[in-house]
Amino acid sequence: MDLSEQFLVDLKREFPKFRIVEKDADLLSQCIDIALKIVTLGQQRSYLDGYYTVLGDTLYVPPSWAHASPIERVITLRHERIHLRQRRRYGYPLMAFLYLVPFFPLGLAYGRARLEWEAYRETLAATAELLGLEAARSAVLKRRIVGRFVGPDYGWMWPFPKQVGRWYDAAMVRLERDFGGTAANLAAGDAP
Ligand SMILES: [Zn+2]
Repeated sequence: MDLSEQFLVDLKREFPKFRIVEKDADLLSQCIDIALKIVTLGQQRSYLDGYYTVLGDTLYVPPSWAHASPIERVITLRHERIHLRQRRRYGYPLMAFLYLVPFFPLGLAYGRARLEWEAYRETLAATAELLGLEAARSAVLKRRIVGRFVGPDYGWMWPFPKQVGRWYDAAMVRLERDFGGTAANLAAGDAP
């Protein structure tokens, strides 16, 4: 059993109804894709092939899932597990309200931005744990994640690059402290 299969076993223990569905072959996903193209005036065209989406207990995956490495899968699943836990914490109606209602009008969706931010902190932590702190520090990763907040991917949910950049930097300081500290402890433990 590889790392991601092991992770899935744990995830299903926590959320027994959890399942994975490919967006390509799913009618609901195709309807959401069309709706998003309409409300973002064609700016969000990659719902089916670029994004993972959790609805209820189901994770809808793009075609790239099939080729993702076990580590990439675990990093994704850890992000999505945060959304599953948020739903359990807030209940379905409040979660749906926080997440979806501010989609109209677009932009300034603070509730969604905070829910996503909590999940992206987990993405960074999982990246640091599984691929190393250097990978979590990657400028490409930072651009991609900040872009999710300030661009059309999620309907310009929080279009303030400076503020999102500050959230990001604060999360990295915490990670450096946690993982830097762990590395230093391990090194100290190894010393004779
Ligand atoms: Zn998310």
